[in-house]
Amino acid sequence: MILVGGKIGDIQQSVISHLQLNTRLCVMNLVEAMANNWNIPADLEREVRKRDRACVYCGNEFLSHKESAKASASWEHIINDASIITRENICLCCRGCNASKGQKKLSDWLLTNYCKERGIAADTVAPIIKQAIENGQ
Ligand SMILES: [Zn+2]
Repeated sequence: MILVGGKIGDIQQSVISHLQLNTRLCVMNLVEAMANNWNIPADLEREVRKRDRACVYCGNEFLSHKESAKASASWEHIINDASIITRENICLCCRGCNASKGQKKLSDWLLTNYCKERGIAADTVAPIIKQAIENGQ
């Protein structure tokens, strides 16, 4: 810090305020970026949260974890590879569907009893999932 005659000048004071504000914004961005454990960038997370308002598989509305752990939202990698962080591979589904799908390939999972019992099929899932099926998942 440069002091002029022992006092902080007005311009210096405004520079310091600006730096403090920037530091605060950086910390806020960092907190937001760390809101998920999957290294999903904040802007992609926002985009996906806006798109996937209900489970992309069963279509059920998300509940808070307190209301129902199974019906709460969870991050899903359609191709079960956490390194594929794209809007095509990242989506939100309920914990119930996520646990059932596990590491299965989408087309294999759709044949399971879990899906049959719930009427989850290639033509009932969200558009992002239909697109993945069309692409061979
Ligand atoms: Zn679901």
